[in-house]
Amino acid sequence: MTAEIIAVGSELLTPSRMDTNSLFLTLKLNELGIDVVRKTIIGDDRERLADEIRQARGSSPIVIMTGGIGPTMDDVSREAASDALGRELKYHPEITEAIAVRVSRLGLRKMAEINKRQAYVLEGAEVLPNANGTAPGQWFEDETGVLMLLPGPPREIEPLFEMQCLPRLRKREIPYQFYTVSLRVAGLPESELDERIAPIYTAESRVATTILASPGEIQIHMRAHAATTKQARAIAEALSRKVEDELGSNVFTHRDESLEAALMRHCLDRKLTLAVAESCTGGMIAQKITAVPGSSNFFRGGMVTYSNDAKSQWLGVSEATLERHGAVSKETAAEMAQGVRTRLDASLGVATTGLAGPGGGTSETPVGTVFIGVADEQSAEVKGMTVGGERDRVRLWATHRALDMVRRRVLSRQ
Ligand code: ATP
Ligand code: MG
Repeated sequence: MTAEIIAVGSELLTPSRMDTNSLFLTLKLNELGIDVVRKTIIGDDRERLADEIRQARGSSPIVIMTGGIGPTMDDVSREAASDALGRELKYHPEITEAIAVRVSRLGLRKMAEINKRQAYVLEGAEVLPNANGTAPGQWFEDETGVLMLLPGPPREIEPLFEMQCLPRLRKREIPYQFYTVSLRVAGLPESELDERIAPIYTAESRVATTILASPGEIQIHMRAHAATTKQARAIAEALSRKVEDELGSNVFTHRDESLEAALMRHCLDRKLTLAVAESCTGGMIAQKITAVPGSSNFFRGGMVTYSNDAKSQWLGVSEATLERHGAVSKETAAEMAQGVRTRLDASLGVATTGLAGPGGGTSETPVGTVFIGVADEQSAEVKGMTVGGERDRVRLWATHRALDMVRRRVLSRQ
């Protein structure tokens, strides 16, 4: 079963406001097994809105409008729905009375005359009481499908939808269900990932697979459709297992957890502790780790060692290394990682040093050069890379790569 959402309001077409109601609605609809196939945003324009309602009803049995049902003249959802359906708006005096009671309870002097606009209901529609505002919602249903008129403010639509709309939707026969499994991957370029898994997921037509890349992480969402949730889950999980077999330890989780949370889980399982020494990432690794509840059980601490002096005095990086190889080098990264590990008495140390730019690049060390060192009691390993993009992206990328390198090191230990 499919649904469409129409967010109404000219303010949603400006750079300062976002339509977040549709995210809430999509979450709730998906839980029932209803797919949202289109979302649109229309300004306060009666004609455009009526056109959109007709179109949406032509393609989906459930259409939800949010916003534009307030008392002011720019609220035109009721009129547009009336135009689209060819149904009259009928005045309901009991709604005006309820608004008047609410207004006096709030201690306001007198109900404004324009509030009466909210008492017009589509012929044949049910009124959905709004516990947190004056404008009631409306539920209209005919052989074409359902059309809901709901308020715009999130604190009004959310409880109203849960209390009034969900029970009505649950009564409907939903012909199929779906279930989504997500895998999160680090340390693999998107092109290589897709090359490896495309033959697997394209062979499973019952699952819609989407791949979402962001700096340092790729998410693979696999959504299966079937008659029951149980069947959909079995199909999605079977595909997920095949994909995970192919990608191996590049998959850092199939749960809803971040890279740093997965790292913490592995460290706690093996009773390992971690310390970090950061130059170009300036504390971002420590920030991410400490954002995970419970990180005090494995994270010993971190140092932001930006200058050469800090690197040598706090971490014990030798002056000869800094002089011969420079601060942004394989050798410095290795000594930083080993230095912070021993000074903070941790099982593992991780360090970053790089050139985030935009200035300071040379032909040997271009902007975007990053070295990441990981050390344990045995040895230190360093990876060097050149990251493209702006300063923020370089720093974020280095942060994710560092977390991922430690994760891999932890997994490789027995
Ligand atoms: P009101 O009675 O407040 O006029 P309304 O149902 O007419 O309610 P709008 O006038 O369209 O709703 O919007 C009121 C406020 O609700 C907006 O200023 C905005 O902050 C918020 N809002 C409206 N639509 C959305 C949306 N789709 N997502 C998030 N917030 C929204
Ligand atoms: Mg309004």
